[in-house]
Order: sequence, then C-alpha cells, then structure tokens
Amino acid sequence: MSHIAFIGLGNMGAPMALNLCKANYALRVFDLSAVALQTLADAGATVCDSAQQAVQDADYVITMLPASRHVEEVYLGAQGILPSIADHALIIDCSTIAPQTAQKVAQAANARGLSMLDAPVSGGTAGAQAGTLTFMLGGAVAELERARPVLSAMGKTIFHAGAVGAGQTAKICNNMLLGILMVGTAEALNLGVVNGLDPQVLSEIMKSSSGSNWALHHYNPYPGVMPSVPASRHYTGGFGVDLMRKDLGLAAESALANNAAIPLGELTRHLYTLHSQAGAGSLDFSSIIQRFNTALL
Ligand code: NAD
Repeated sequence: MSHIAFIGLGNMGAPMALNLCKANYALRVFDLSAVALQTLADAGATVCDSAQQAVQDADYVITMLPASRHVEEVYLGAQGILPSIADHALIIDCSTIAPQTAQKVAQAANARGLSMLDAPVSGGTAGAQAGTLTFMLGGAVAELERARPVLSAMGKTIFHAGAVGAGQTAKICNNMLLGILMVGTAEALNLGVVNGLDPQVLSEIMKSSSGSNWALHHYNPYPGVMPSVPASRHYTGGFGVDLMRKDLGLAAESALANNAAIPLGELTRHLYTLHSQAGAGSLDFSSIIQRFNTALL
C-alpha cells in the first residue's frame, strides 16, 4: 500500500486523513497543533516532528492548509518540504489558494522533476467526514489518474478543471457563489422570523420552492433547524468566516486581473469583513445571520 504524507490536519484535513487511514494507507502526518496530531495518532497514523520528516519516502504528499502564504511557506520556505520529497512522489495540494500561488509552487516542483496537482475540495466538514468530497483538479490528466485512488478514499466526485491553477479558479467561483447564497439565505430566513414565521417551516417551504439552494438543504444558518450543522453548535467547527473572507478576496483579485464585474461577490466580501471585525472571524461562515439578527449572537 502507498505511503502518504498529510500536512494540515484542521477541520477538513483531519477527517480527510482519517478516511485515508480507514482505507489502509500508511500515513505520516504533521500539523502545528498537538491536538490535531493526537487525533491521527489514535487512528494509527505516524506523527512526525516536522513537515520535512513527514514527506520522506512518501509516494503522495497531500497538503490541506489555510491560505496561499501557508502553502508557499510549507513548500518553498526556509524549512520547506520540496527538497525532501522523494523523486517518484506526486504532490496534491487540497487547500483553497490563489491560482498564481498554485502555479508558482507547481513550477518549483517541476524544476525538481516533481508533478503537482491543485485539488481544492467542496462538500464541507460533513463531506470530509463522510468521504463524499468533490475535488476540482488542475494539472495533467495522467497525474489525475495517479491521484484517483487516493482521492477516491476521501471523495466521490473528481473534476478535471484544466491546467495547473484551474482547480483553484473553479473553487474560487464556487465559493463566491456559496457566500452569496449563504448571505441571501440568512437574509430571507431572518425576514420570515421577524415577521412571525417558524424558521423550520419557512426552510421547508423554500427548500421546495424557487429559493431552494445548497445552504438550505445542507447548511441551514438558523440555530436548531438542522441538528448536525455548525448553526446548531454555536457556529463552531465548519468553514471559518475568515476562510470565506479569504476566498472572496481571491475572487476579487481574479476579477480585477481580468476585468470581470462581481458586484454581489464584493458586497458579500464586505459583509463578511464587517462580521469578522465584529469578532466572528473564527466562527463558521453561516453565523453571518447574526449580522441580520443580533438575538442570535
Ligand atoms: P483549519 O484552519 O481548520 O485547518 C488548517 C490547519 O493547518 C490547522 O490545523 C493548522 O494548524 C495547520 N497549519 C497551518 N500552518 C501549518 C504549517 N506551517 N504546517 C503544518 N500545519 C499547518 O482550516 P480548514 O477548515 O481545515 O481549511 C483548510 C483549507 O480548506 C482552507 O484553504 C479552506 O479554505 C479549505 N476548505 C475548507 C472547508 C471547510 O468547510 N472548512 C471546505 C472546503 C475547503
């Protein structure tokens, strides 16, 4: 069985790595958080003292880090892993980062004779736990096929978006739409509630009507409507406000670079910035409903 190095064991990385353990891959893991490492040690993974140690002799190197600067640091920084990766290994970065950063790291990997795929994911922490993530890949088709068995242990759908960086562009478009949908869903639910509707009843009506969307079906922002989403556990876990803000910033950069108008994406980015400034940066992104109804704070 192949050896996999997995770096970045947060809300997404930990359940993804656990699914690789369940699929009997030999895992060597590293994260800055001792708590995150313990979870993987309990599942049988080998905990390493550094990212460099984790990648040694690995057949696949997977990273799931917060943002571009973390990915650049982990691969290309002073303690970067690129020189330590085995010649035959395939690099798969699942973080959501700027397409330009994905291309920069991939070029550095190519210069060392290594191949790299950008493979950002959709499906949230529930999808990561259930092993039903959607992967959006940028890179060569031959490398996609090399990655397929490993990705299939963590997700159920794999799309080839195009060349290196294209996976990130697809992910940025998707997350801009997700942010817009979450704000709109929160706004509509709050309007109904302040006018006397039960949020559960309103959610059921809209799920079967023309306002139906992913947030209503899988990630309702109103506390208590869905039992196992962040809204029903005080907006803990899930997808952080500051990570959504980062993705909307990536959308803004992509729009500026190619003269695209994204008025709703920009409005959504500003709403998330205000929400973060109000102290909600580490809460799940569905907590944006608190900006419409302070009783939900
Ligand atoms: P997170 O903040 O929960 O986890 C990130 C992990 O990376 C942390 O455990 C942190 O300690 C670790 N880390 C940071 N720097 C490191 C370093 N130098 N070396 C080793 N470990 C390091 O974030 P997350 O929610 O798991 O998201 C990870 C990525 O996936 C982000 O790019 C995010 O945008 C994307 N994403 C998240 C979700 C979601 O629902 N949470 C869904 C899809 C995509």
